[in-house]
Amino acid sequence: MSTTQRLVGKPTILGDGMTITRTLPSAHRRTVGAWCFLDHFGPVDVSAGAGLRVGPHPHIGLQTVTWLLEGEILHRDSLGSVQNICPGQLNLMTSGKGISHSEESPAERPAMLHGAQFWIALPDASRQCAPAFAHHETLPVCQHQGLQVTVFIGELLGLVSPAQVYSPLVGAELRASDDTQTALPLRRDFEHGIQVLTGRLIADGEALEPGTLLVLEAGRDIVSVQAEAGAYAVLVGGEPFREEILMWWNFVGRRRPELTEACTDWNAQAGYFGAVRGYDGARLSAPMPPW
Ligand code: MN
Repeated sequence: MSTTQRLVGKPTILGDGMTITRTLPSAHRRTVGAWCFLDHFGPVDVSAGAGLRVGPHPHIGLQTVTWLLEGEILHRDSLGSVQNICPGQLNLMTSGKGISHSEESPAERPAMLHGAQFWIALPDASRQCAPAFAHHETLPVCQHQGLQVTVFIGELLGLVSPAQVYSPLVGAELRASDDTQTALPLRRDFEHGIQVLTGRLIADGEALEPGTLLVLEAGRDIVSVQAEAGAYAVLVGGEPFREEILMWWNFVGRRRPELTEACTDWNAQAGYFGAVRGYDGARLSAPMPPW
């Protein structure tokens, strides 16, 4: 079996001119650890008009991880959280059995927006937990030769993120402060993925373009990284996720009926999704699944 896999995301242009590239899930792979969704958005100029506007929508069965390289996003959720996020900070929302949120450009903002949103599937034993939102303003950072490494989930290079997750995971930003040739330690029991967000980076001898996720199967202790100054990438990983998950729209579940029910319940404004206050716009409607 090959020990690496390249997943090439397909860029999609949204109505407002924002490019989004999704590398997970793909036809070739569903998860890396419990990471089940990787979206890279921008860089895009959001200085004109209202900028980013994603109206209130629900989630179940997952945690969302928002990570920015440039710009700002204002998060509001049904727990009453109203939180601006800047580069180097983590917004971690745990849907548990049901939450809703909106995401928008704040009125005063930098011109450029560039970042990533990831989802983590909650294990069956935790997925009915109470919804929660956490903003981590400062995270552990170290300089590892020419790489500045920020750990936002789990542990790497002895740095431990304070973020609460429900299965063994790692998530880190790698930023080349100089041209560098180095290596990062990996956990042998984890599978990993490396995705370049900007610039040039070679991991495990593979040149990666933005929009390509290189997956490294479990059983390795190290990965070589060669990067040009200014390159940014994310490293994600975790214990292979043994549970079979199903995804539809903004929902992660196990069986079709629960996903259908989540769509019906959201569209009927069921109470367990709560309500987002203060967002100036319409809530999104759930598209019913094809089954
Ligand atoms: Mn969302």
